[in-house]
Amino acid sequence: MKKILTREEWRRRKQRNRTISFSIVILLALAIIMMALLIAYSAVKHDSLSDNGVIRDLKDDLLGNNREGITAIGERLSNSVEIQSDYLTPNEYSRPQTPLKDINAIVVHYTANPGTSAANNRSYFEGLSEKHTTYASSHYIIGLEGEVIQCIPLNEISFASNDRNEDTISIECCIEDETGSFNEATYASLVSLTAALCIKFNLGEEDIIRHYDITGKLCPLYYVNHEDEWYQFRKEVMEEAENIKRTSP
Ligand SMILES: [Zn+2]
Repeated sequence: MKKILTREEWRRRKQRNRTISFSIVILLALAIIMMALLIAYSAVKHDSLSDNGVIRDLKDDLLGNNREGITAIGERLSNSVEIQSDYLTPNEYSRPQTPLKDINAIVVHYTANPGTSAANNRSYFEGLSEKHTTYASSHYIIGLEGEVIQCIPLNEISFASNDRNEDTISIECCIEDETGSFNEATYASLVSLTAALCIKFNLGEEDIIRHYDITGKLCPLYYVNHEDEWYQFRKEVMEEAENIKRTSP
């Protein structure tokens, strides 16, 4: 037999039902907020992965790795080569003067133009300000004699590495022939320069990447074709960085 409720019991039951409904709504709202936070977090995390899985430090993304606005790393490399500072004339096509707020990697390139010197390649970048044929430049160019020209200060972006122009330093290396291999002098300067940059901006082996690692472009050609030697190069940079740290005052 169905129990007949008093007015007071009705009131209490109604009250209890209302409390239960309210709790369910609150729980659902909390669950939705948690889901939204999780989705937002994974989106940010995904964003911090570069094309080929080079994981950038989320913390560094937020803080920036060149907060002091460093424009250069000093004059002489550990192989005794002097860095020539010869900045491009500011222009839309090769030196837009866009601030480089983060330095999360160093990107190695090759000029794809056998026999040309660092100065030749610098002139090419400079000439784009008048020719307007393309957007291209690099922070550094290393020539066949191991000479190093800095074309862009380290607190500005260069036009070398596509999606990663925003947070990387670029190094172009000159080549003697179509194989794209670096000669001894070029290689020695590349190791010294990269090591100095790794020390300055607190970067590790994983942060030394090829243009190929960003877009799949065959650049630097020789190190796309010879992966073992690429990894060997990165190891030598780390060893050189340790040497520099040990011997510098
Ligand atoms: Zn390249």
